[in-house]
Amino acid sequence: MRRKLAAGNWKMNGTGAALSELSALIAVHPHPSCEMLICPPAPLIHRAAALVQGSALAIGGQDCHANETGAHTGDVSAAMLAEAGATHVIVGHSERREDHGESDAQVCAKAQAAIAADLVAIICVGESLAQREGGQTLQVIGAQLAGSVPEQATGANTVIAYEPIWAIGTGKVPTLAEIAEVHDFIRAELTARFGAERAGAVRLLYGGSVKPSNAAEIFAVSNVDGALVGGASLKATDFSPIVAAL
Ligand code: PEP
Repeated sequence: MRRKLAAGNWKMNGTGAALSELSALIAVHPHPSCEMLICPPAPLIHRAAALVQGSALAIGGQDCHANETGAHTGDVSAAMLAEAGATHVIVGHSERREDHGESDAQVCAKAQAAIAADLVAIICVGESLAQREGGQTLQVIGAQLAGSVPEQATGANTVIAYEPIWAIGTGKVPTLAEIAEVHDFIRAELTARFGAERAGAVRLLYGGSVKPSNAAEIFAVSNVDGALVGGASLKATDFSPIVAAL
């Protein structure tokens, strides 16, 4: 049985004052039925992890470098995130793939670094609007999975997030049938590569304009094991009902 996961990605939002949202979340969900995770900006991770210690809320990073150390100004290693108190890290978010030109191979190397540092890697995949309209969605997702998911992936160290780029921050959401088609496809691809038992333990999150109003219907879709939430994770009042819907 895969435990559901509600993950929030604050992106480049939030200073120290925003940490009160974490306290509010813990107060509303002291014993949630799903796993709860918030990925704040890197400078907040240490404080956030200290604040949530002993609670059901976990803290993650939004990216990590593939190397352990070195001349990589501005970057953060997986071990640094772990030491700061993170238990998870998002890799291959479409904003990283676009803004920083990250390739599947780089995303795979980051996921390997995360796993080596005992972090759970949340590997993002998703098609652009042009790719969807061109009928290439499954081909694109298949290639991203093949290139970004490392050989050592298991249900314990890896989560896959399907995030159609055109649905991120736009208020546009695929139909439930479209979400089901991609999630079933991802499960089938993982099964072909890793076998049914290993693939069946990997959680698949949907991400892209998840809100309190649409969370329940999305979570009822086949092979949707939770959500990666951007905008609606910033305020506990928005994220709480999403957690409750899981
Ligand atoms: C995201 O950034 O991963 C995301 C899904 O954003 P939003 O929920 O705002 O669409």
